[in-house]
Amino acid sequence: GSTLEIKDLHVSIEGGEILKGVNLTIKGGEFHAVMGPNGTGKSTLASAIMGHPKYEVTKGSILLDGEDVLEMEVDERAKAGLFLAMQYPSEISGVTNSDFLRSSINAQREEGDEISLMKFIKEMDKSMDELEMDKNMAQRYLNEGFSGGEKKRNEILQLMMLKPAIGILDEIDSGLDIDALKVVAKGINSLRNETFGCLMITHYQRLLDYITPDYVHVMMKGRVVKSGGPELAQRLEAEGYDWIKKELGIED
Ligand code: ADP
Ligand code: MG
Ligand code: MG
Repeated sequence: GSTLEIKDLHVSIEGGEILKGVNLTIKGGEFHAVMGPNGTGKSTLASAIMGHPKYEVTKGSILLDGEDVLEMEVDERAKAGLFLAMQYPSEISGVTNSDFLRSSINAQREEGDEISLMKFIKEMDKSMDELEMDKNMAQRYLNEGFSGGEKKRNEILQLMMLKPAIGILDEIDSGLDIDALKVVAKGINSLRNETFGCLMITHYQRLLDYITPDYVHVMMKGRVVKSGGPELAQRLEAEGYDWIKKELGIED
């Protein structure tokens, strides 16, 4: 398995510091949940890991198996095994879902080792079945007119087919009804093995009822302020975040 190591990460957007020293290590085989109130920088962390140009890393490091991720271009990060399921997946008109997926897979492979069309279709069919997706979604333009739930399923379809070393899921549960949540959780759980490392960003315990994390981290004001096991998420669900603020002397 791979190891993603985030050390003292500081990130600014348009000059304003959002992340103020994040430390987090995710190893292959581990499922981590990052929770925290709105606006604490959870999505910023995900975007910074993936190399979104708007997010400026001013201090700290991100290493994947000792390799400097911050030195990599966006496509190199994907090729190195990092994947982000976005909170708000973008629509790409004119590119079918199927073509997008196949070129994403091939972009991660060496030249001359492209996935065969037959194998691709077989795997896509299988994954779409697991996610209870309508087959015509394959030929529609990427995310165009997809409902919120369809977009989230489609992100998990990409995750299942790309099989990254480390998957980052940003609020994959938001906007899902309970049946869709169960299906999405089943897809994510099917990836559990000794090598796949997962970082699930979520507001709610609800997702964690279906995907049990090994570790739970709480982010506040641009830092990971507390880490624990699944019981930490349960306490947050019952009591909110105020007790952590009190415990750590964080002012509003
Ligand atoms: P979370 O995901 O925890 O809700 P975000 O990472 O989305 O938080 O946002 C953290 C802070 O950074 C917020 O104050 C937000 O307004 C700000 N922010 C996020 N993205 C941008 C952006 N593209 N431009 C300006 N400010 C941003
Ligand atoms: Mg948010
Ligand atoms: Mg967010």
